[in-house]
Amino acid sequence: MKNVVVIGMQWGDEGKGKVVDLIAPHFDIVARYQGGHNAGHTVIINGERHVLHLVPSGIMHEGKMCVIGNGVVVDPLELLKEIKEIEARGVKVDGRLLVSSRAHLIWPYHRALEKANEEHRGENKVGTTLRGIGPCYEDKSARRGIRAGDLLYPELLRDKLSANIADANTLLKAKGASVLDAVSVSESVVEQANQIAPMVADTAVYLNAQIKAGKNILFEGAQGTMLDVDHGTYPFVTSSNGTSGGAATGTGVPPNHITDVLGIMKAYTTRVGSGPFPTELFDATGELLRERGHEYGASTGRPRRCGWFDAVVGRYAVAINGVTTIAVMKMDVLDTLAELKICTAYRYKGVDLTEIPHDASILEMVEPVYETFPGWQSSTVGITSYEELPEKARAYLDRLSELVGCQIDLISTGPDRVETIIRDGSRLKQWMQN
Ligand code: GDP
Repeated sequence: MKNVVVIGMQWGDEGKGKVVDLIAPHFDIVARYQGGHNAGHTVIINGERHVLHLVPSGIMHEGKMCVIGNGVVVDPLELLKEIKEIEARGVKVDGRLLVSSRAHLIWPYHRALEKANEEHRGENKVGTTLRGIGPCYEDKSARRGIRAGDLLYPELLRDKLSANIADANTLLKAKGASVLDAVSVSESVVEQANQIAPMVADTAVYLNAQIKAGKNILFEGAQGTMLDVDHGTYPFVTSSNGTSGGAATGTGVPPNHITDVLGIMKAYTTRVGSGPFPTELFDATGELLRERGHEYGASTGRPRRCGWFDAVVGRYAVAINGVTTIAVMKMDVLDTLAELKICTAYRYKGVDLTEIPHDASILEMVEPVYETFPGWQSSTVGITSYEELPEKARAYLDRLSELVGCQIDLISTGPDRVETIIRDGSRLKQWMQN
């Protein structure tokens, strides 16, 4: 049995797309378990850039099945658009993608509500992507959500939709926003949404049956540990559990069938949107990381905030997710720096904290405590063997591994699939050999 969860150890955008794409050939099924089309996975194949938002990256590999699990929220129109784009690149999607009947659907009123809420919050806005994802999860928790399986029952669907639109309109009116026309939502949107009906299935039953039949599953997390609704920098988080536990609840595959957790982290740190970020750099080094790392959102184009590697976050992510092996991404971005820093603790009111305070406003006030390292100042771009890395780069990686408490099996030295080091004798290499 080989069922692996891939998670982001920081604030998302760690480069999960590249890693999933790289290891997908060694699995039979790739499943998404949370989030929505706010995730933007970039995969570069033969120099061509593909950005996937909702469909698991496994779709780029012939013969692999892809599953959108019950924990994902699906905007049917966005899913259809993405499928069209993928097919336009000559990749067959038909018959290879299943959507859980229990996955909640995003409707136009979710987007309208999110926009009205963020505008209402003014300076305190969360910095969400305004795609209706948060309000859709709110409806799920409030037990009034509409799920993909409901598409199979048009009469019921129409009733649920008109009740939800009426409720949404009351809220929109109260916030001074314009209301939605129930008829046009029910008719035009439902008509299009119905095109996903043939993909709808009980994916939990499917996945468990496949495991029984000896198939291997790769679970693809979106966002990152620090954006997890429970374990992240609440309230500056996403609305779902991107940590490894979410893979069980978000697909219906029990935890004891998950065999490994692959944690992805950048060799430095980035975050998008608002919220605390202790190691953020506001100087030329921050700008250099942004430019060299092309740190602009794959989905939104927003510039990402950049800073030094935070080992407090890394250690926490290893613990929360049960990370068994790590991939360090974007090592090459650090190539030109004369000096590097790693944050090992947070100083708050004269005391060094080695764990993350639960309160975002405290985390906002901490001062990072750094260890300083000499830079290697030579190119690592495209290096494929650990031994070829400059000695100072290896020393930096060794310290990262030691501080976060887990082995590093993969080092990424460029955006392309081939620009990757996979260490000999590692767990990761073993998965890739059988
Ligand atoms: P994800 O959401 O975690 O998959 O991350 P994104 O796809 O948003 O961001 C990762 C970005 O970094 C993409 O543009 C990748 O092509 C790029 N990338 C991934 N690994 C490397 C690397 O090792 N070096 C460089 N320079 N770019 C990388």
